[in-house]
Amino acid sequence: MSTSKVIVITGASSGIGEATAKILANDGAKLVLGARRESRLQDLVKEIQALGGEAVYAVTDVTKVGEVEALAKLAVDTFGRIDVWMNNAGIMPQSLLKQKKIDDWDSMIDINIKGTLYGIGAALPYMEEQKAGHIINISSIAGHIAHAGSSVYSATKWAVRAISESLREEMATDQTNVRVTIVSPGAINTELLESVTDTGFKNNFEDFYDNFGISSERVAFTIKQAIDLPDDAAWNEVIIRPTKQV
Ligand code: NDP
Repeated sequence: MSTSKVIVITGASSGIGEATAKILANDGAKLVLGARRESRLQDLVKEIQALGGEAVYAVTDVTKVGEVEALAKLAVDTFGRIDVWMNNAGIMPQSLLKQKKIDDWDSMIDINIKGTLYGIGAALPYMEEQKAGHIINISSIAGHIAHAGSSVYSATKWAVRAISESLREEMATDQTNVRVTIVSPGAINTELLESVTDTGFKNNFEDFYDNFGISSERVAFTIKQAIDLPDDAAWNEVIIRPTKQV
C-alpha cells in the first residue's frame, strides 16, 4: 500500500530509523527526521529527495524537550499534520550493576524513557486535534527478558512498553482514533553496539550479532506494515526477532 502520511522519526541518522525512513519515503510518505548527527541527516534527506521522495530534518536531541517540540512543529509547519510519530532514538550501554556506571544509567533513562515521553508529549496535541494519529515506540526483546547486565536497558524498554499500553488505553478512552504500536526487535545489525562502553559486554555482543543479527530493513518492513493497517485496527505489539536467534 502506498502512503502519503506525514511521519516523524527520532534517531533517524542510522540503523532502524534510517532504514524505516527510506522504506516509507519510497512508499510516498513525507518524512520528518530527527537525531543529533546533522551530516547523517543531511545525507539521508538528499538521498530520499534524489529518489523523488519528500523529507526534512532538524537536529534533535531527544533529552531536550524544546528540541523534540521543535521537531513536531517542523512537521506541522512543513506538511500540515503529524500522522505517525516513531520514538526510535535509543542507546544500549549494558553493564553489571556492581560496575556502577551511573553516567550510562542516566543516559539510558534520559534517552530511552524520557526521550519517548517527550516525543509523545510533542505529538499528542496535534494528534488529539486531528482526532487521529499513530505513535510507534521502539522497545526490545530486552523489554521482555532481563539478563545480568541488561538491568537498566531492560528497565527502560519495559518502561517503554508500560508507557505505550497506558497511552493506548488513554487514547481509546478518549475515542481519539490514535493508534499505539510497540515494536520489540531482537538482534538487528546497526550501530547500537557503539553505545556499549564496557569492553567485555561489547565483545560478547559483537559475537552474538555476528552469529544472529539481521538487517534493519526487516524491522523497517514490519513498521511499514503496522502503518499500512486500516486505521480502525492497530498492531499493539510486534516482536520481530531473527529466526535463528537463540
Ligand atoms: P543505532 O545506534 O543505529 O541508532 C540509534 C539512533 O538513536 C541513532 O540515529 C542516534 O542518532 C539516535 N540517538 C541516540 N541518542 C540520541 C539522542 N540523545 N537524541 C536523539 N537521537 C539519539 O541503533 P538502532 O537502530 O539499533 O536503534 C534504534 C532503536 O532500536 C533503539 O531504541 C534501540 O534500543 C532499539 N533496538 C535495537 C535493537 C538492535 O539489535 N539493534 C534491538 C532492540 C531494540 P544520533 O547519534 O545522530 O543522535
